[in-house]
Order: sequence, then C-alpha cells, then structure tokens
Amino acid sequence: MSVIKTPHEIAQLRESADLVARTLAEVAKHIAPGVRTSVLDRVAEDFIYSHGAEPAFKGYRMASLPPFPSSLCISINDAVVHGIPGDYMLREGDLVSVDCGVELNGLFGDSAYTFGVGDLSPEDIQLCTVTYEAMELGIASATPHGTIGDIGAAIYRHCSNHGLGVVRELVGHGIGSKLHEPPHVPNIGSRRRGRRLRTGMVLCIEPMINLGTSEVFTDSDGWTICSADGSSSAHYEHMVCITPSGPDVLTTFEYIEEITTPPYRMKALSYG
Ligand code: MG
Ligand code: MG
Repeated sequence: MSVIKTPHEIAQLRESADLVARTLAEVAKHIAPGVRTSVLDRVAEDFIYSHGAEPAFKGYRMASLPPFPSSLCISINDAVVHGIPGDYMLREGDLVSVDCGVELNGLFGDSAYTFGVGDLSPEDIQLCTVTYEAMELGIASATPHGTIGDIGAAIYRHCSNHGLGVVRELVGHGIGSKLHEPPHVPNIGSRRRGRRLRTGMVLCIEPMINLGTSEVFTDSDGWTICSADGSSSAHYEHMVCITPSGPDVLTTFEYIEEITTPPYRMKALSYG
C-alpha cells in the first residue's frame, strides 16, 4: 500500500484503530494481581474475533523465529516489547506493557499501553509519565512539512532530559494493509532530517523507554526484548494520520482512561 493513504483507506484504518483501542480497554478491565497473562491474551483474542477481526500478531513471522504464538504482546517490568503471554501471574507493583494489533477488513490497527498493577514505585510512575508525554510530543511533531527526524528528536529530547534510556533498536512504522509498512519512525533523530512527512501518511508513533540503560537484549524465548540492566521499561503507541491541519490520532486511550486513574496507575479492580 502506498505510504500516502486515500481518504477511504484512512476511514477504514480509523475503524481498525478504534477496535484496537477498545480491545486494550477490555484487557485493562482484567489487569489485577493473580491474573495470568495468558488470561489477558484470551480476553483480547475473543474480543477481536467477536468483532469480525483477526489478531494481527498471532502467527506473525520474524526472521527464522517460530511464528508469534499469541494475540497480544505482554511485556512485564524489564521486558520492553514482544513478551509472550503465558503462566506468569501479575503481582502488585508490576509494570504491564500491552501491545495489540488487529486486522479488520484488510486494514491493520496497532496500539500499546503500559499499565501498573496496584501501586507502582515513584520511579516507575515517572517512567510511564515521561514515556507518555514523549509520545504526545512526537505526535505533536507529526505535521505536514515536518520530517521523520522531528518526531524522533522530540521523543529523544524529552526522555533524555529525564535521564531515561531510549531504545534505538526498535522503531515506529507506517501502517496500512500491512502491520509494518515504510517508513521507519525511530525514537531518536535530528530536526528537519529524514523523510518529509506528507498529508495522508499513517504512522505508528511508539516510544519504548527504559528507566536505566538504553541497551537491550533478546530473551532465550527468541521474542522478548529486555532492558540490559534489568530496569523497568514502558511503551505507549498511537496511530497518527498526517493532515493539513496537523496530526489526527486514529487510536484513542479514552476507553482505557475511563477505567484507570492517571498517572497511569491501574488499581486492582475487582471484576466479577
Ligand atoms: Mg504495537
Ligand atoms: Mg507498532
């Protein structure tokens, strides 16, 4: 699909984006101490299928790895992204990064949110807050006549000002009839450098930020990316369409934030 989307394609991407946003909120309802991450995955998968869509991550292929086995990526504490849901039981104080992708009518949606289980440490709250703000600053830079470098520069400056580690190996991306399309959207860059942004581009802007070092390694499961020093990591992701009047965020955290309390603390909710 062209990097520049048609109005019809953007309308369809908005529907995929809305479904992924509502799926994340459905998952959020179930985040509590004692819940296994495989349960969250099942909640998302059922929700996606029941809305006539397919989970985009399930079966996703990367290099020579076996296909990704789950509908969500759930990355706990020092895991940055691509964590595989399983038997792990959530605990009070955990940071839970949930990344979700859907395919609806051939168009993809992709969004991520980092939750806390109960009360987080002040450092982890700060990490989430700054990462979230960095995403918003990156989005604010996504204007026609701007560049890809403007986005990365805004994200990097904010995070490094707060002493956080910006992961360089992982980047945002275009999205459309494929989950990952050109261009790459790095979380580091120089203003006025890189590809020119154009009206009709749809980009996933997704800072992946560590409390400590920016260095990462891949876990022995082949998928999970972890911070090299074991420090906490956060990840927020929105889908953004470039319009003549500026960035139009296609995904939303409104559904999530109806049931959570800023600053991004997920209280142990008792549901059923
Ligand atoms: Mg994602
Ligand atoms: Mg993405």
